[in-house]
Amino acid sequence: MKKLFSFFILFLFVFVCYGQEDNGNIRISRNHNGIIRSVEILDHEEIPHVPKSAKEFFEKFLQIGPDDDFIIEPHVSKRTEFRHEHYNQYFRKIKVECGGYNFHFKNDKLYFASGNYIKIDSLNTQPSISPERAEELFAKHKNIPLNSIIESHSELLVRELSTTKIKEAYPYLIFKVYILSDQLNNTEYGIIDAHTGEVLLQEPFVINYSATGTFATRYNSTKQSMTQYYNSDFHLVDSTRGAKIYTRNLDGSTNYNDVIELSDDDNNWTSAEHSSSENDMGLDVHWGFQQIYDYLLNNHGFNSFNDNGYPIVGYIHYGLDIEDKDNAGYDLNNNLMYFGDGADWFRPVASLDAVAHEFGHGISDFQCGWIYSGILATFHEGLSDIWGSIMDYRVSSQQPWKIGEQIDLSYGCIRNIQNTNDSNARFKIADTYNTPTYNGGDQYVKSGVLSHWFYLLVCGGTGTNGIGNTYNVYGVGMDMAEDLIVEAIFNNYLDNVSTYEEVRTAFKNAAYALSSQQNSILVNQVENAWYAVGVGTKPSQMSLTGPWLLCSSGHYYTLHDPPFGTLTWQTSSNIQRLSTQGSNPCNFKSISSGWGWIQASIDGIPGPKKIVWSGKFESTVVTGTAGVCPNSIYTYTAQVPGGDSSYTYSWTYPSNWYYYSQYKNTITLQTPSNPYYGTVRVAITNSCGTSEYSGITVYPGYGCGGYYSMYPNPASDEITITINEPETIVTENEDISGVVVSKVIPSDQLSFTIRIYNSLGTLVSTATRTGTSFKIPLINLRDGTYIVELSDGKNSYRELLIVKHD
Ligand SMILES: [Zn+2]
Repeated sequence: MKKLFSFFILFLFVFVCYGQEDNGNIRISRNHNGIIRSVEILDHEEIPHVPKSAKEFFEKFLQIGPDDDFIIEPHVSKRTEFRHEHYNQYFRKIKVECGGYNFHFKNDKLYFASGNYIKIDSLNTQPSISPERAEELFAKHKNIPLNSIIESHSELLVRELSTTKIKEAYPYLIFKVYILSDQLNNTEYGIIDAHTGEVLLQEPFVINYSATGTFATRYNSTKQSMTQYYNSDFHLVDSTRGAKIYTRNLDGSTNYNDVIELSDDDNNWTSAEHSSSENDMGLDVHWGFQQIYDYLLNNHGFNSFNDNGYPIVGYIHYGLDIEDKDNAGYDLNNNLMYFGDGADWFRPVASLDAVAHEFGHGISDFQCGWIYSGILATFHEGLSDIWGSIMDYRVSSQQPWKIGEQIDLSYGCIRNIQNTNDSNARFKIADTYNTPTYNGGDQYVKSGVLSHWFYLLVCGGTGTNGIGNTYNVYGVGMDMAEDLIVEAIFNNYLDNVSTYEEVRTAFKNAAYALSSQQNSILVNQVENAWYAVGVGTKPSQMSLTGPWLLCSSGHYYTLHDPPFGTLTWQTSSNIQRLSTQGSNPCNFKSISSGWGWIQASIDGIPGPKKIVWSGKFESTVVTGTAGVCPNSIYTYTAQVPGGDSSYTYSWTYPSNWYYYSQYKNTITLQTPSNPYYGTVRVAITNSCGTSEYSGITVYPGYGCGGYYSMYPNPASDEITITINEPETIVTENEDISGVVVSKVIPSDQLSFTIRIYNSLGTLVSTATRTGTSFKIPLINLRDGTYIVELSDGKNSYRELLIVKHD
């Protein structure tokens, strides 16, 4: 009480001098012990002794004791002229629960201080029991078996308490004990006297709290997702984000008032519990909402549809009618989303692209102000499919360009914005504005103009569109294209558009804003992609020129009409750049033979690519007949990279063959009466040099005279087979270049298998023989026509045999 007395003296001094506790310049309030709870300083000019710091306030105003400490919590103010400090109270280094003080400075002048200083005159701060003992005592008090405890911890604190015995609040040394048991859903802290072990108080920690649930989702495997605990269960509610997220169950109703909460008792939402009811689709929706919300916030700084935390609300099990069940939607009136169970066409409509599609309608609604009517409905659907693609690409491992590939029961997807005419998509969509397909379609068909434009902008492509215009788009990649979508939507470029031409202009200007150049590659390819889908005029297009044959002496390649940006060249590994990077034109040379390429990129976006042949030709494939007959004419062709013109061909062939003629890359030859094993080869000279010789192996063919003879035919008891060829060439292998690897074996060293098939193709007799002449008995065969097949293990030869018993 002595200290308290001197404290009053100080204040008497201050306020005797400066008037009342509330004199218009300063306003002070106190608790019943007379301790200051708050000070407001209203006029600094009139109050000269205002503390300049928290330290000064603690010493002079609060007159804290030698065992008291106030420790600041780190805090950064966003507005530099203001400083806010929060201090926690400690008594002999032990935290005082609920004790602390807060100070607010403007331009370094204190204008408001408030807090709760718990004045402790005496307290034994050496606990008499251990924390483990405190946990045991609390478990005993709660009837929790010790072996059921999964986790427990306790904190030594000072706490001011009033109990039933002592009404006036009094500081205690306590253990605050937390126990997690698998038997009891224990939801209270124990406040244990650290000296006596008495349970002074229990207080709940689970009135309503957020927790991370484990979801066995329907389409996205096992995921962690935020839930909320209340009414003894975990629910699909997330209040940890800047926008609240709710996923609810309509259980077949279409009236949002008929809502049933989706809940789980232990926050482990297993398939066994939630799959048969298809409530697990809610897990996909709830997780999907959180992923989409986080992606937009973390990557683009947007806080829900309205960028101001608008609640994200979804309903599953919407409706009982087939058209409701086979659908998902965004309610423009109530700003919420619903997801049907699926019926004839779909599984439960809750894949991530479906969730993102509906979420996208919300973005279009809030940000672009698009109503769902006329051409705006087609913009709505196109942009929603774009969000479906973006989120598939960013969040799940699903195919980004297919919409609904996980939910369609009989097609590969609902829509495919890459291949708009995909025969395996349930709905074919327009890829070009103002075609018969477009004009005859609904808003989904028409939406392909916008969604396919986005695909082309990301991935690029060449082709002829629905109105016969050829296009060539260099894809700028997902990062840049997505930034463009966000820029256009969230910065009002897409407000009040009413034609595709206006949407094109909006995106072109958003691209200009992103790249700061009217002639950037992004602006250029935005226009190019719109031209590809039939909107707007053809923009100028860069192109790459230079020779297709590149020698070691070097050649220049030129990028024409490059857009604004940094040019970089890339090549295949067999080509070397001689000029400095970014030069235009740029000199390259061949460093080894083979196909290669040169490509120009602008700001990292791959542009025109030229396929070239680097250096001399390599071993050339020659095509033509390998197994040849005597006295016949054959043509052999050198397969030349890049065509047949303007090269010199030098051929070789077996010495006893006759040259007939040569034209471009072909040679015509005639075999002698006894063609033998050899090669037909060619060496080709291009402007970089002469290739090695390479070609095709030739050998006597079998179709010429008959490999074996068989007599008599017709036969009755037996036939005699004679091998006509003294040597047999056995084909061992044939590689991809067409070169046949063979070996020559004397025929009398071979073993032959003779199989006889009847007219139905059934095997009726098998025999094995060696030598060049042998007999096969026929007594078991009925009269009729047979096929005799002779095989050396590699080659087979067939002859017709008639059996006619006398
Ligand atoms: Zn839609």
